[in-house]
Amino acid sequence: MPDAHPSDPALALYHTLENVQWQRSFDARSLTRGQGYARQGRVRHGTRPEQEGEMLVLRAQVDGSGRSRYLTSLAVDPHNPPMGVVSDCSCPVGRQCKHAVAVIQSFIDELEANGSKRPGITAGA
Ligand SMILES: [Zn+2]
Repeated sequence: MPDAHPSDPALALYHTLENVQWQRSFDARSLTRGQGYARQGRVRHGTRPEQEGEMLVLRAQVDGSGRSRYLTSLAVDPHNPPMGVVSDCSCPVGRQCKHAVAVIQSFIDELEANGSKRPGITAGA
């Protein structure tokens, strides 16, 4: 099957996040706060994106408020864009929380900062 994406899971994840319009999986408040977390450098990347079956998975630790630190994981299915982003977190919210937003935003920022191999993608600011 022809595949437009390189086999690099990071690039595949990047394209899939754009494709599923990942922001739609989170509410406005989580987006705002999570993106703030990302810019404050609260995300500790524990792992690189991984391909797990059909899914692309990203896991990281995020510094929460106070001294808490949360383990966040999220998954997207490149073949099922309507599913959006499914996230899971060790914080009280658990699903679709601001920590997942922080992880995604930080991932995107990092990739774009590296600036390599980005064929005509316009990222949402
Ligand atoms: Zn969380």
